[in-house]
Amino acid sequence: MENSSHGQHDMTTTDREITDHYDLFVIGGGSGGVRAARWAASRGLKVGIAEGDRFGGTCVNVGCVPKKLFYHAAHISEVLHDAEGFGWKLEGAATHDWQQLTEGIERYIKRLNGIYERLLDQSGVIRYRGWARLVSAHTIEVQLVDHAEQVAGDRQGSRMMIKADQILLAPGGRPALPDIPGISLTQDSNDFFALKEAPRRAVVVGGGYIGVELAGALSGLGVDTTLVYRRELPLRGFDEDIRRKLSGYLAEQMTVRSGAELLRVEGDRIGVKSVYLSDSEDPIEAEFVLVATGRVPNIEQLNLGSVGIELDPEGGGIRVDDEYRTSLPHIFAVGDVINRLQLTPVALAEAMRVVGTLTGKALPPLNYDLVPTTVFSHPNVGQVGLTEEAAKQRGKEVIVYETDFKPLQQALSKDPKRVYMKLVICAQSDRVLGCHMMGDDAGEQIQGLAAAMQANITKAQLDQTIGIHPTMAEEWVTMRTARR
Ligand code: NDP
Repeated sequence: MENSSHGQHDMTTTDREITDHYDLFVIGGGSGGVRAARWAASRGLKVGIAEGDRFGGTCVNVGCVPKKLFYHAAHISEVLHDAEGFGWKLEGAATHDWQQLTEGIERYIKRLNGIYERLLDQSGVIRYRGWARLVSAHTIEVQLVDHAEQVAGDRQGSRMMIKADQILLAPGGRPALPDIPGISLTQDSNDFFALKEAPRRAVVVGGGYIGVELAGALSGLGVDTTLVYRRELPLRGFDEDIRRKLSGYLAEQMTVRSGAELLRVEGDRIGVKSVYLSDSEDPIEAEFVLVATGRVPNIEQLNLGSVGIELDPEGGGIRVDDEYRTSLPHIFAVGDVINRLQLTPVALAEAMRVVGTLTGKALPPLNYDLVPTTVFSHPNVGQVGLTEEAAKQRGKEVIVYETDFKPLQQALSKDPKRVYMKLVICAQSDRVLGCHMMGDDAGEQIQGLAAAMQANITKAQLDQTIGIHPTMAEEWVTMRTARR
């Protein structure tokens, strides 16, 4: 183990000498880490990357990708429900095969893991399959994991010491669990994606992205689901009107216990559990109890303190400056570990800014106010820019345009879901400050609006835009009457 930053180290027989020296070494093979590694290598830097698990990180393995596939599976049940109105005669009751779905998802993820590895190899990045930690300002120790898959080159043995001029920390995050009795009986989102069969009953705790999305997937796939959140409405931080409207739809799909805290869980890990909430003495019985109460940065294993890397006292992640430099200027950090916005495209954008800085081609700073986002609830929620509430809190005078309608695709449905769209406009400048939508494929629409907002679009320019008829999206350019 190295005892100073000047390269003295004492090795065991299984250690390798420090033979590998990189311009950039990346810790973490998720969205941010892989993008930075590939990008830097393709711009001529000698790059290594360590990942102890499967490449692709949370997004590919236990996040966005499997979640979206679960979302589609659940959404099909809505389509089947609507089909009758359009003349379809579906013989008998539709049934769902959970195992077939999860096996298909697993195959797809494995393909993506392979693609990630190939992309790294083709860019010339050297991969280490192992857990990395800092041992000094320029030295990284990688504890290699025994893995059936090939580790690039001849990198064998249990431990490697690596030198790097620059280091990028991108180790991601993991579920945060509240400290309540019986928490070990509960599962997290990683466990959800590992479920081999559908539970009969599920309790989902947490009114954020994961709670709302996975409760929707479970209930859409026929699981008797209870969603529990501690506030009156789910999705804190989203538009208030949308939160209210969505809570109505959630209550149609599942049992919702709002304003309730999780107190304790009793039972055993395999069988039925009793879930006690603050609003009732009677427990809810369920085989599967999913806790989705936020995620925390993966910092414990990095040995940050001993090399003097500081944490952000507010977010709990690694503190970085505008260039994503930590308190040691040659060590950078991006993605969930800096705990700004835990979103894949944000990690990608941060990673590219680090590589821009390293290669002398700095990119413009990332505007976190303009990050678009979608919750894959049923229906979807999407937004970009400021909510009406946030704009007012920043002292802006706003004009709100909104529309609430039954979309044509639902015209013949027995119980159609309505669509809601809202524009928040700066009264002074006419600039669009925020776009908010609840409706199918909200993210597909918000993406285009995000580009327009990046170009500082005004309401007058939206009004000049010609709509595409008949679509939901044309409403963005035809809203003319401001809300009183
Ligand atoms: P979120 O921060 O979105 O939501 C956490 C939820 O848990 C909130 O409702 C919060 O309530 C509640 N909560 C927090 N602590 C407790 C507690 N001790 N007891 C009860 N409830 C509690 O976190 P998620 O875990 O849902 O997701 C993590 C992050 O992953 C998201 O913030 C997002 O950045 C990312 N993500 C993005 C997705 C997407 O882009 N579609 C999908 C999934 C995840 P309160 O509001 O009161 O604090």
